[in-house]
Amino acid sequence: MKTLMLSAGEIEKAAGIIKNGGLVAMPTETVYGLAANAFDGKAVAGIFKAKGRPMDNPLIVHISALSQIDELVSEFPEKAKILAEKFWPGPLTIILPKSDRVPDEVSAGLDTVAVRFPSHPAARKLISLSMPLAAPSANLSGSPSPTNAKHVMDDMDGRIDAVIDGGECDVGLESTVITLASDRPRLLRPGGITAEQLREAIGELDIDEAVTKPLAKDAKAASPGMKYKHYSPKANVILIDGDEEYFIEYVNSHAKDGTAALCCDEDLGKLKVPCISLGARGDDKAHAHTLFAALRKADENGCKIVYARCPGTQGVGLAVYNRIIRAAGFEIIHAAEE
Ligand code: AMP
Ligand code: MG
Repeated sequence: MKTLMLSAGEIEKAAGIIKNGGLVAMPTETVYGLAANAFDGKAVAGIFKAKGRPMDNPLIVHISALSQIDELVSEFPEKAKILAEKFWPGPLTIILPKSDRVPDEVSAGLDTVAVRFPSHPAARKLISLSMPLAAPSANLSGSPSPTNAKHVMDDMDGRIDAVIDGGECDVGLESTVITLASDRPRLLRPGGITAEQLREAIGELDIDEAVTKPLAKDAKAASPGMKYKHYSPKANVILIDGDEEYFIEYVNSHAKDGTAALCCDEDLGKLKVPCISLGARGDDKAHAHTLFAALRKADENGCKIVYARCPGTQGVGLAVYNRIIRAAGFEIIHAAEE
C-alpha cells in the first residue's frame, strides 16, 4: 500500500479515506494518532494490524463536539461533565461505561470506552468531516509515540493509507487518562493535564499504582496498555536517580563508544558523551514536548546506551517520569546505593 502524505489543506481527502474504511494518521496536540471510523469494527481491526498492537489493548475514541458523546457512552456523570467543561477540547481522556454502538474492537471487550475531545484544528476538522474516530498513537506498538509526520512515516510507511502533516505536536506525550467508571476517580495515565489540576476540578483522585511502578506479573491492569512494553527505543535507557552533580559524574565515568545522555540545556558542555537536551532544567513541559523525539534521535544516531536523569513527579513531571521509566524498562541507578 502506498501511504499518502497529505497537507493540512487536504483534510477532505483524508475524511474520504476514513469513510471508505481506511486508516489515516492525524496530528493532535498530544501525539499523532492513527485514526479509523470508531463505529466500523473492521476498520478498527486494521489499526491493530498496522501497529502490531495486542488486541486486548483498547483504543481512545476522539470527538469534535460534546453532543457526540451521547452515542458513545451509556452514562455521562456529573464529574465527567465538570472535567469536559474544564479541560475539553484538550489532552484529557475520560473512561465511562460504553454504549452498545461502540464495537468490541474499540473497547477490547471491556464494558467501558475511553473518550477524548482533542483541541488540534486538523484532528477536529477530520472528525467533523467524518465521524468519531478511534485512534491510538500512530507508532509501531512498543516504540516511542510519533510527535511529527516524519516519525509516523518512519514507522507506518506502506502500512496505512495516509498521514496528515500538521507539524510538531504541542504536548508531546499522550493524553492524561482518568477513569470515572470505577468507584472512585482514578488516574490511569498521567499527561498534559496534571493530577493536581484534576483534583482541583473534582476533588478526590486515586493514582493507579501502575503509573509509577511495574505491574506485578499476575496483576490485572486497570488500563490494559500499562502491562505492555512501551516507549522503548532500540538503545538501552538507564535512569540515574541523584542530583545534577552525581548525574554528570556518573555519566562521565561510564563514557564509552555508543553512550549518550538525555540532559538539560544547563548540562551541555559538562558531559563527555554526545548529548540530546530535553530543554531548560525544571521545565517539565519542554521535557514532555521533546522526550519522544529525543528517544527516536538516539536510535537514529546509533546509540547503544542512553543515560537520563530521573525526573521529579510533580505536575507534568509525573507524565515524563511515567514514560521515561517505561522506556528504561524500570532500570534505575540510585545515588544512595553506589
Ligand atoms: P494509546 O492511544 O496508544 O496512547 O493508548 C490508549 C491507552 O488508553 C492505553 O493505555 C489503553 O489501555 C487505555 N484505554 C483505552 N480504553 C480504555 C478503557 N476502556 N479502559 C481502560 N483503559 C483504556
Ligand atoms: Mg500508544
